[in-house]
Amino acid sequence: MKCPYCDKEMTLGYIQSRDGVVWTPKARFVSALNLYRKGITDLANGAAERSGTVYAYKCDDCKKVIIDYSK
Ligand SMILES: [Zn+2]
Repeated sequence: MKCPYCDKEMTLGYIQSRDGVVWTPKARFVSALNLYRKGITDLANGAAERSGTVYAYKCDDCKKVIIDYSK
């Protein structure tokens, strides 16, 4: 994947979290997160069976990480 900021090739790796990787519109206690709650986006993208590991692209020059959460 090309970095959308500098157009250089990004490095594929992983972001991992024991309890899953999600995007939320507001910060919450992780223990209170419920994937079925409205507004929460599960970022699982096929890197692992459980949602605690997701593929992520990194650009060291721009200090950006991109997660494509399409399955
Ligand atoms: Zn970049």
